[in-house]
Order: sequence, then structure tokens, then C-alpha cells
Amino acid sequence: MPDTGTQERCGYVAIVGRPNVGKSTLLNRILGQKLAITSDKPQTTRHHLLGILSRGNVQVLYVDTPGIHRKEPRAINRYMNRSARSVLRDVDAVVLVVDRTQWTEDDEMVADLLDGIGKSLLIAVNKVDILRDKTALLPVLKTLQDRFPEAEIVPVSAQTGDNLETLMELVAARLPEGPWLFPGEQLTDRSERFLVAEVIREKMMRQLGDELPYALTIQIERFEEAGELVYLDAVAFVERDGQKAIIIGKGGTRIKRIGTDARRDIETMLGKKVMLNLWVKVRTGWSDDERALKSLGYDDA
Ligand code: GDP
Repeated sequence: MPDTGTQERCGYVAIVGRPNVGKSTLLNRILGQKLAITSDKPQTTRHHLLGILSRGNVQVLYVDTPGIHRKEPRAINRYMNRSARSVLRDVDAVVLVVDRTQWTEDDEMVADLLDGIGKSLLIAVNKVDILRDKTALLPVLKTLQDRFPEAEIVPVSAQTGDNLETLMELVAARLPEGPWLFPGEQLTDRSERFLVAEVIREKMMRQLGDELPYALTIQIERFEEAGELVYLDAVAFVERDGQKAIIIGKGGTRIKRIGTDARRDIETMLGKKVMLNLWVKVRTGWSDDERALKSLGYDDA
């Protein structure tokens, strides 16, 4: 990011787009490293942060936009769309990530949420590294510009890093002048408890494939540090007996592997030895029940 003057800038940015367009790849590339933990104390910020990038005089706070999902009418999806909208209204810039070839119904659903956002919208047309003939991009760029006349459109490759500097300059230029909200070396505001739950969730999702798109929630019931040891008890809530059976696997082999993989990552993250106990419980129809969602901590976004 270039110097945009001597005045410090700091602001919130949301990266949105349908699944598979490359949002995580882009964020990891921009942040330049896997998220590390520097603070166990969650801070009071307007949003959940995915990562913090401090460079030059600019601090960019990348916020989480709780899943933007097309499938109504389950309560969890209604809830998530609602909270996505409230996040988008409140950020300083939005980066919409799209694939260089496909504009799908899911893209359109995301686009609908963005209508009215106007000049703070940047569109990153990702995966241009796949294109041999760059002129193939032109019709895509034109369609996007017609759909979002006020947006700035940047072809990028999250994978190779192509044009990401330009994208970051455009992001920086949209942030308000003001003091940084976090120390320059801080990379996240998430609590260790939250990050631990995310590691376990990620390992389980990997085992489940398409089986469980959103209906998996991890609750950390015990997080106890004793010297160089951390005792963790975690419960995974699923919706159906069949999903529970998949996670547990024949004779418990799969849950054992999930536990081992998760423990290894958590140990690296915390820099301590970890004793991890994992359970799977069925909570029937929980995603249809707003009260149940609240009891699992989905009420604070
Ligand atoms: P998300 O669901 O939007 O977060 O998408 P991911 O970041 O998980 O990426 C989806 C897939 O696209 C992964 O297999 C990535 O490796 C791939 N991908 C992401 N960015 C690029 C890119 O710039 N070029 C290419 N060729 N593949 C990419």
C-alpha cells in the first residue's frame, strides 16, 4: 500500500461473494500469513474481524460477513442474511469477489444485497490467471460495469497475487482518516476460544463434504490452562443422527482422526500441549429455531 499522506487511516472492509470465487484465498494472500493470535482478550469493535492489515499509514480491518445464503426459509439463513446486511451497511468499503467466467444466481443474490452501496464498492474479478486470452475478460467487465455503474472493477488473481497491490490501493483510498484501532503487530481480535472452535469445525467440515453446509456448531465447554497444558472439552452439534454417524465413523476412527488433526493445529496455534475431548450431539431442527440459535451464541453479530 502506498503512502496516502501522513495522516493515519483506518477502516472496515468486507469481502463478499458466493462460495468458491476465492474469498479465503484472497484474504490469506492479502494478510500474507496465517492468522496468529496475539491477544486472548476479545476487543469491543463494531464487527467480528477476520484479520487486520497494517501497512504504511493504513490499517485495514477485514470484517466477517456472516454467510450470505440464498436458501430461505430456514431461520439460520434468514438470520445470516439480516446480519450480513447490517454489516454491509456499516463498513467503509466492500470488495465483491466474482469468478472471471461465471455469473450465477448466487452471485446475483449477493449483488442484490449490495444494491445501494454505491461508490464504496470494488469488484475483484478473480482467477484471471486461468485465462489465456485476456480479451475474454472484456464482456465480463462490461456486464459488471452495467450492473454496478459506480463500482471500480479490478481483474485479479488471488492465487498468483496479480493486481492485488492495485486492489489494496483502491481499498486504502476508501478508508477514512483516523487513528489506528489496533497495535500494528496485531493480526486478529478473535478470542483463543473462538479460534479453537473454528479449527475443530474446519476439520469436521472437511470430513463431511457437502453433507453439512451450515448446520455444524462447535461449543467449547472447557478451556482450562494448567502450566504448559490446555484442557479442552468441545461438543459438536449436528442436526441428524446420520450426520453424527458420519463424523464418528466406523468404530470411532473418523472422530479420532479429526481430534488428532485438530489437536495438532491447536497446539501450534497456542504454543502449548493440548488435551482435547470431543463429543458429537444431535440437536434436532436447531437451525429452524431462533431461540436455539441464540443459545449457541448466534445472537451477537
Ligand atoms: P471462497 O469459498 O470464496 O472462500 O473460495 P476459496 O478461496 O476457498 O477458493 C475456491 C477455489 O478456487 C480454491 O480451490 C482455490 O484454490 C481456487 N482459487 C482461488 N483464487 C484463485 C485464483 O486467483 N486463481 C485460480 N486459478 N484459482 C483460485
